[in-house]
Amino acid sequence: MKISVIGSGYVGLVSGACFTEFGHSVICADLDQSKIDALNSGRIPIYEPGLEQIVKRNSASGTLSFTTDVEQAVRDTDVVFIAVGTPSRRGDGHADLSYVYAASKSIATAMQGYTVVVTKSTVPVGTGDEVERIIRDTNPDADFSVVSNPEFLREGAAIEDFKRPDRIVVGVEDRRAQAVMEEVYRPLFLNQSPLLFVNRRTSELIKYAANGFLAMKITFINEMADLCEAVGANVQDVARGIGLDKRIGPKFLNAGPGYGGSCFPKDTLALAKTAQDYEHPVRLIETTIAINDNRKRAMARRVISACGGDVRGKKVAILGLTFKPNTDDMRDAPSISIIQALQDGGAIINAFDPEGTEEARKILHDVSYFSNAYEAARGADALVIVTEWDTFRALDLGRMKEELNSPVLVDMRNIYRRDDVEQAGFAYHCIGRA
Ligand code: NAD
Repeated sequence: MKISVIGSGYVGLVSGACFTEFGHSVICADLDQSKIDALNSGRIPIYEPGLEQIVKRNSASGTLSFTTDVEQAVRDTDVVFIAVGTPSRRGDGHADLSYVYAASKSIATAMQGYTVVVTKSTVPVGTGDEVERIIRDTNPDADFSVVSNPEFLREGAAIEDFKRPDRIVVGVEDRRAQAVMEEVYRPLFLNQSPLLFVNRRTSELIKYAANGFLAMKITFINEMADLCEAVGANVQDVARGIGLDKRIGPKFLNAGPGYGGSCFPKDTLALAKTAQDYEHPVRLIETTIAINDNRKRAMARRVISACGGDVRGKKVAILGLTFKPNTDDMRDAPSISIIQALQDGGAIINAFDPEGTEEARKILHDVSYFSNAYEAARGADALVIVTEWDTFRALDLGRMKEELNSPVLVDMRNIYRRDDVEQAGFAYHCIGRA
């Protein structure tokens, strides 16, 4: 099949590249000239393990190409995926759909013959109806269907998630579009990945319900972590004790500094706003958002307390800036609020992240960036692990102690054993392990 993907960011690029691996011919479009120039010259504009090889292989064979001309990309394709961003709208927290609507207009102008237009972007319930209206108003003669196909991939494991998904959700309103989507995902279907056909509004809501639930699960274990500290329990054992129950499951039960990233914060907010608009507020999600927002600055207060109650003029070394390991994505990373709160308290910030420095520089100012953990720690009054990159799991604690001004380790991801760290002569602070 001939597929075009509008928006070549984390989702668009991974989807486009993986669709070529399924045997389709794909053209990826983006308005960002520098992104397309990079891709056309064999460079990948984001950090995602495994993506470069797939893009190179399929670009070389001619089944994957890139353009800034959205209309050219759409012409002659059977299926068009919209994978543009849907960030929080400034001011009210609703999803900003302006990119989706702009892409819909371009698609409407260019489409020829029967075309299936698929929203892969995360969009609120009813957006498919609006996309359909825009296309019909712009091109009254167009022959098309609008489908919802939310994406569930995780950055850092995106290729694996796309090729071996837990499920594929497709929201359709007609049989003709369903047949096309069955063909798009046929290789996965043959691999026995569950392909769930539902109506379009249900599909749109499934994505928000999934992210809302996962955000709630993380927030739940974070609250349990605080309780563990108060009652002398261990949150990792609590997580294991409940996670072995198949009704609960072991994932998303790692206590930490609160969720962040390009999806959970904006999606929980958009879900809460949609529910309010329909006069059915989702109070669990509203509370989750509030708890998570407070948690990030609370994490900074922990660092301040580990530094003796005051960080004015003290140097704090931060390890890990991205919202999770194996990505360069800094969107809504907990490190941002934590660092800003520490700076508000007068701290001087050193930082190291294996892949996120370039993105971090755009967001976090007055931070000294280093090229490894030991350099970042030099002369610091505390070492704080914010993101659990593998490289931080086996630090040479002896060497680290030499580098630090005072041996204080705040481990916000619980990746060390208290005994090991204390034996190395550190004061150790972690999450939910009294
Ligand atoms: P992104 O910001 O990385 O990429 C979006 C791209 O769309 C940008 O490169 C931008 O230049 C381009 N764009 C914007 N308007 C355009 C237009 N009219 N025509 C062509 N290109 C245009 O965003 P992302 O992280 O890939 O997310 C895309 C969508 O997928 C969002 O709705 C997001 O919620 C959802 N999603 C993201 C993830 C994730 O892990 N990043 C996972 C699941 C779902």
